[in-house]
Amino acid sequence: MAKKQFKTESKKLLDMMINSIYTHKEIFLRELISNASDAIDKLYFRSLTDTTVSLVRGDYEIRIIADKAARTLEIRDNGCGMAKEELESNLGTIARSGSFDFKNGDEPKENADKIDIIGQFGVGFYSAFMVSEKITVTSRAYGSEEAYKWESEGVDGYLVEKAEKEGFGTSVLLKLRPDTDDEKYSEFLDEYRIKDLVRKYSDYIRYPIRMMVAKTRRKDGSSDDNPEYEEYLEDETLNRMIPIWKKEKSEVTDEEYNNFYKEKFRDYEDPVKVIRQKTEGVSDYIALLFIPARAPYGYYTRDFEKGLQLYSSGVLIMDKCKELLPDYFSFVKGLVDSADLSLNISREMLQHDRQLKIIAKALEKKIKDELQKMLENERDKYKEFFREFGTQIKYGVYADFGVHKETLKDLMIFSTSMGDEPTTLKEYVSRMKDDQKKIYFAVGDSREQAELLPQVEAVTAKGYEVLYLTEDVDEFAFMMLHDYDGKEFLNVSSDELDLGTDEEKESLKAENEAAKEMLGFMKDAIGDDISAVRFTNSLKDHPACLSSEGALSASMEKTLGKMPGQENAGIKAEKVLEINSAHPIADKLRKLYDSDREKLNKYAKILYANARLISGLAIQNPSEIGELVTSLMIDE
Ligand code: ADP
Repeated sequence: MAKKQFKTESKKLLDMMINSIYTHKEIFLRELISNASDAIDKLYFRSLTDTTVSLVRGDYEIRIIADKAARTLEIRDNGCGMAKEELESNLGTIARSGSFDFKNGDEPKENADKIDIIGQFGVGFYSAFMVSEKITVTSRAYGSEEAYKWESEGVDGYLVEKAEKEGFGTSVLLKLRPDTDDEKYSEFLDEYRIKDLVRKYSDYIRYPIRMMVAKTRRKDGSSDDNPEYEEYLEDETLNRMIPIWKKEKSEVTDEEYNNFYKEKFRDYEDPVKVIRQKTEGVSDYIALLFIPARAPYGYYTRDFEKGLQLYSSGVLIMDKCKELLPDYFSFVKGLVDSADLSLNISREMLQHDRQLKIIAKALEKKIKDELQKMLENERDKYKEFFREFGTQIKYGVYADFGVHKETLKDLMIFSTSMGDEPTTLKEYVSRMKDDQKKIYFAVGDSREQAELLPQVEAVTAKGYEVLYLTEDVDEFAFMMLHDYDGKEFLNVSSDELDLGTDEEKESLKAENEAAKEMLGFMKDAIGDDISAVRFTNSLKDHPACLSSEGALSASMEKTLGKMPGQENAGIKAEKVLEINSAHPIADKLRKLYDSDREKLNKYAKILYANARLISGLAIQNPSEIGELVTSLMIDE
């Protein structure tokens, strides 16, 4: 029979396993045991709802059989098994999602990278090729009379053919590679080594992992004075079967939590935070939660599915229970195990389940408190966290008409004019000057851009702190918050920015009044893009700037314009071109109004284009502006 070929990505992974110089090849056993356990989970779960499956919990086991003479190691389970097509599709193609994706050309090139991937998180079934020269998987799906065999010696393909197998489930038989000077593969046939590995990696597996082990006993009838011993085989359960989440936090090392997280949730980095919560009383549950170090690929897309694993007394009943996490904490991974949930609960029923709602509420509070603690006590760690997931938190403030803003407002941090360290709103407010009424913020694509806004210079010159908002969602979140501790937010680019004294305000008013006609002329020259041209005294050195009137700022206009389907919706901020009354340009404009209106027309357009640019807005008519500038250059 002709061998079938592995799919390309699988081939690469396989090749990596076969040629692996990774030193912890032992993890293959953990992978195979975890597959066996998953397969039993599937069948066990079915047995709870499907009356045709008549098995009880005690019927299940994972068995390890080491045969030194044949140099084989077998891992056998009585789980769901695989039908012929499943053997082909599951073992012929290894489709790993997310972090282990070769498709986009991010194939690890250096050996170091490869080792990292193998070591850091599970690589599944194929890892067995690190120690085997041949693998034979014989499987019979539960309920089927037929068994099939899948066999492969590595990259040149695999065979699937009919086989004999007693009972349902799967047997994975590894023919170990010959020992070399550096690698003693035969160690994996050693009883102590196997026991050790099971305890190290698979102790929490909920089904017994059994093996016949050699024991010695006193021979019957041998006398006390002259005892004789004999060897016999005894079936032994190697794992303690206590799920890691059931153990007290003090009984589990950080490394154990991290390994569990990486293996279970397929990450290759340690989580930044491990949260365990155990409650008894109103609701009985244990939660083990992890905050990942990095946002997974595709996190900020619609395709991302949030959710926690849901267990009922140790049995997995749902892989991604989204009801347990609010959207703004959707980055949290982990599981909840509760004795209070009905096992055959359907998705629809879950949505209305009171118990689940109580748990979700408590988890939300716990996650919030932990983040708050991290923010207060481990600022650097929190900064990393916020870099990855801050957008989600800020979006949470804005979403659902702001109903979660109270929960989230103290979890946000922003860069500030007060130094390099980001600040919370609370900290900002505590630093506010006595005469300061508003929380000032400036918007830009980057901190640098926001910092350069003319109005920032004016506000910081007064000794007031300015927050720099660089993400689209920021300003919307502020709009939703409206104020913090009674202090309202103010975009420094808003026409409401007014830093002057009453006297200064009066004189500005008079100045604007006197130049009314000239300012009207300039507005007409620029067109409908702006609603007015005005003098201002709140700029320091810059000649002009744009400010917005009303609720929608220029930056929000930009954001809304970027949203899909909104490009031509014509959402516009009311913009005002403000001219620095203390700048020499003010006099120049006044003179031109009297002497050369054609030139004033050009000046108006160029000043406006300038102001747009510094505000981070594009110029709509760059070639016209270019020509205008050139014409003025020639003129001089
Ligand atoms: P993963 O376990 O991450 O899905 P693997 O490469 O380890 O990836 O396994 C691929 C698939 O093969 C599994 O998803 C499962 O469907 C199937 N499989 C592996 N081992 C067994 C087993 N012992 N019993 C039933 N199915 C199995």
